[in-house]
Amino acid sequence: MKEFEIVIPVKAVTFDELDETDRKLVELARQATERSYAPYSHFRVGAAILLSNGEIVTGANQENVAYPSGTCAERTACYYAHATYPDATFKTIAIAARDTTGNEITRPVAPCGACRQALLEYETLAGENVKVILVGANDIYILPSVSATLPLAFTDFD
Ligand SMILES: [Zn+2]
Repeated sequence: MKEFEIVIPVKAVTFDELDETDRKLVELARQATERSYAPYSHFRVGAAILLSNGEIVTGANQENVAYPSGTCAERTACYYAHATYPDATFKTIAIAARDTTGNEITRPVAPCGACRQALLEYETLAGENVKVILVGANDIYILPSVSATLPLAFTDFD
C-alpha cells in the first residue's frame, strides 16, 4: 500500500495586503452579491473574473423555485465570460458572499464542487493557473489555481 498527502497552498491575507488589481476584483465580487437573486437560500454570492483581455466579468447566484435550475455565482460569471469573450482566458476569480442576515460572511466562501469542476475547464483552456481569491470579512484566502481547489479532479482521460 502507498499513502500520500495532497497539500493545498493557501495564503491568508488582509484586503490591504492585496495588490490593486486583486483589491478591485474583491470589491467587484462584493458588489456582485447585491445582484444575487436568492429568495430561497438568502445566501448571496458574487464572483468577479479577470480575463486576459483586461475585461472583468461578474456574476451572482440566480436561484429558481425549481431549486436545481438555479446557478451559482461562479458558474453565472464563468459561462457569461466565456460566452462573451471566447478568445480570452481566465486570469483570476474572486468570490464573496453575504449570509442570510445580509452581512458579509466572516470566513472566506469556497466554490461548490460543481463550480470547481466548471472553473477547472477554463483553467485547462487557459493553459496556466487561474488564481482563486476567496473573500471573507476578516480573512481573504488566495489559492494559486483552480486545480488546487479540486484535488484528484475529473479530467479528460485519454
Ligand atoms: Zn457552485
